[in-house]
This record gives sequence, structure tokens and C-alpha cells, in this order.
Amino acid sequence: MAITTASAAASSTTPLSQLKLKPTSTQISAFPATVSRPSARAQKTISIHCSSTTLQTAAPTASATDRVFNFAAGPAILPEKVLLKAQSELYNWRGSGMSVMEMSHRGKEFLSIIQKAESDLRNLLNIPSNYHVLFLQGGATTQFAAIPLNICQPDDVVDYIVTGSWGDKAFKEAAKYCKPKSIWSGKSDKYTKIPSFETLEQTPGAKYLHICANETIHGVEFKDYPSPANENEVLVADMSSNFCSKPVDVSKFGLIYAGAQKNVGPSGVTIVIIRSDLFGNAQSTTPVMLDYKIHADNASLYNTPPCYGIYMCGLVFEDLVAQGGLIEVEKKNAKKGKILYDAINGSNGFYKCPVVESVRSLMNVPFTLAKPELEAEFVKEAAKEKMVQLKGHRSVGGIRASIYNAMPVAGVEKLVAFMKDFQARHDG
Ligand code: PMP
Repeated sequence: MAITTASAAASSTTPLSQLKLKPTSTQISAFPATVSRPSARAQKTISIHCSSTTLQTAAPTASATDRVFNFAAGPAILPEKVLLKAQSELYNWRGSGMSVMEMSHRGKEFLSIIQKAESDLRNLLNIPSNYHVLFLQGGATTQFAAIPLNICQPDDVVDYIVTGSWGDKAFKEAAKYCKPKSIWSGKSDKYTKIPSFETLEQTPGAKYLHICANETIHGVEFKDYPSPANENEVLVADMSSNFCSKPVDVSKFGLIYAGAQKNVGPSGVTIVIIRSDLFGNAQSTTPVMLDYKIHADNASLYNTPPCYGIYMCGLVFEDLVAQGGLIEVEKKNAKKGKILYDAINGSNGFYKCPVVESVRSLMNVPFTLAKPELEAEFVKEAAKEKMVQLKGHRSVGGIRASIYNAMPVAGVEKLVAFMKDFQARHDG
């Protein structure tokens, strides 16, 4: 098998050795590599001569112990099995003789990849047949404009519930294309709350109600969803940072969108799930790349899609299905969240999470230290213990541990053990 051969050829003399992965036999069998590139090629050391430097690279192989626990908010940790599977197929995807990066997006190989990715995602989220799944580019940020451009006209009023910085950015962008109203903002409470739905004053005639289902920076997550007040109004949700972290009743939404780079793949892929009756209302100035109907009519292949990213998302979806689907995924996420929040709550105020308990995110856990001057030391010492990217977002400070789907329970347990040890050394 290619992976075994390659790891036998491991060389630890190059900088790339730090990125190397050594799969175990269990990991390989969970995601069997079907075909391998000729092993001689995989073992070779390659020299790339540039004008002034020579880059020495080797086939990527190394010990899993070289990996860190990455608590980044995104791009974020990917499941190890998925990375190993991608590694095993890198040179030669399933006998095609090509890397997925080298394939035509219109060839039968890539078509099978994108179709399988869509069908696994449909299974995972139980997406009704009257919804389209689009694989787009431009990040969730592009959707901040694409949504009003596609589903309302310049004079239409639309409602935004602003529970954090991302909801606020979406709201401000929409103002260029329609008349958005912020019907609730958590800004004065430093974005630590979700409103009670009964008290919301929705605008009569609003075309859609927008929420950010999980605020990545502030760690505030909707646990339930409001219903739009008007007939024909739809609920629109930015699910970038909790996409596929738990089951969602898609039929409650007109449109769901998410950048891939937190839970389901690398950056560069944005997924839009849209109810088909919302097509055909695009504003006349909508650029072709932002027009949902054009992408839907062309099965996300109107132009060259982010092929490799879609392939990676497909591997993640396959892995989530193999884990037993989103009910199982949610159980694991709840367990991780409980371990971490219990540690914060049980620290006698040494660590504090500002978010109201009932809406604390299971994906992004922000917390502060009672002695803020220790925060930099906390981040530095954690990094030495191979727990990285724990610094809070520059706009809020403190610490933020993002514990997306791919973060193992062991990663959270290690963080909590470190937190207790750090407290014991610095408390008092
Ligand atoms: N919405 C949310 C909730 C996010 O977390 C992010 C990125 N961190 C965005 C939107 C913007 O996504 P992108 O960078 O892919 O445009």
C-alpha cells in the first residue's frame, strides 16, 4: 500500500518532515486507499532548483506525534482520517492516473466526486428534494451580498438579528443592495446573548429574516431558530461555523450558507442550500458569479469550481456519514463542550466565559483570565505543549478555543488538564 511504502521511506532531514504523517493500520483500513501511484515515485526525494535556492522535498510521511492540537477558528483542524485518505490519493486518484487537482471539472471523475459530495451532504442534513445544494467560491462574505441580490429587490425591507460581528458584517453589506433593518443587536451586551424570539419586533413585509447561527468570534450559538413573521418571508442563516456540527431541520430555512473551512473542508468552498422557489428573483445588476439560478442550472459547474476543496469536503462528508451521521457528531460535540465549559465554571473565577450559559457555542469557546496579564503566558505555554491558536480574536482579546467536529475529545481533555495545571501555578 502506498502509504506504508512512503512512510518506510521517511526522511527527517527536510523542513517538510515536520508536516509528515504516519498513518496507523487502523486508520488506513477505515478509509482504504484503493489505488496508489507507483511507489518509486512516492519514495523519491525531489529537488526543485530555483534561481537562488534549492528546495528539497520528500514524500510526506511522518509521525502523528508531530501533529499539534489546533484550536484555530478557521481554517481549522480536519479529521486525521480525511487527511490520510487525501494523502493516499494525492498522486493518483483511484486509478485515474491523476491528482484531483489535475482533473477537468467536466470529466467523469470529477463529476463523480461532486455528485457523491452532494449526495452525502443531502443524507447528513436530510435536505428535502426542493432544495438545491450549490458549491461556490468567494467565502461566506460574498454571500452577504449575494443573498439580497438574489432574493429581494433594492426597495425591499429585510430583517437582521445581530448577535455578533459576523451578523453585523452581513447586515452592513446588505445595505448596499436593499433596505436591511437590525431588529435586535447584542452589541451593547458585548454580543453575549441571543434574544428571546417572542419579543422580536419583526418588520411587516420583510422579505427575509437573517441570523448568524453561530458567532465564531463571540461564541454565541442559536440553540433554536426564530420563525419569520410574514407570509412568504424566509429564514436565512449563516452557518459557517457550526455547519454539520449537529442535525438541522433544513425545511425551516429558505437559505443556509457556510464557508467550508471550519467543519467541512479547506477554505475556498462555500456551500449554499437554497429552496428552489427562491430562484428567479435576482436583481437585474446581479453579477453572473453571484446568481444562484445560474449556478443551480449548471450544477455548480458554470465556471471552474474549487475542485480540490470540493473533493476534500466530500471526504469529510463521507467521514461524518461513517461516524453515524450528525446525531452522533452532535453527541461528541456536546461532550467536548461540557468538558471545557465545566472546567471554566469550576475554576472559581480564574477562567470566565462571558456568554450567557444557555447560548454558549459548542464550536467556539471564548474565555478570559481573571488576571488578563497572564493571557499571553497561557497562550505561549499551551503552544509549547502543542496546543496552538488559542489567542482570542483581536477584537475581543482573551482566549478562544475552537473545538470543531474534527477536534478529538483527547484534545479538549489535554487543554483542560493544562488549564488546571496553569491555574494551580498562577492562582493566589
Ligand atoms: N460568517 C462566519 C460566522 C464566519 O465565522 C466567517 C469567517 N470566519 C465568515 C462569515 C466569513 O467567511 P469567509 O472568510 O469565508 O468569507
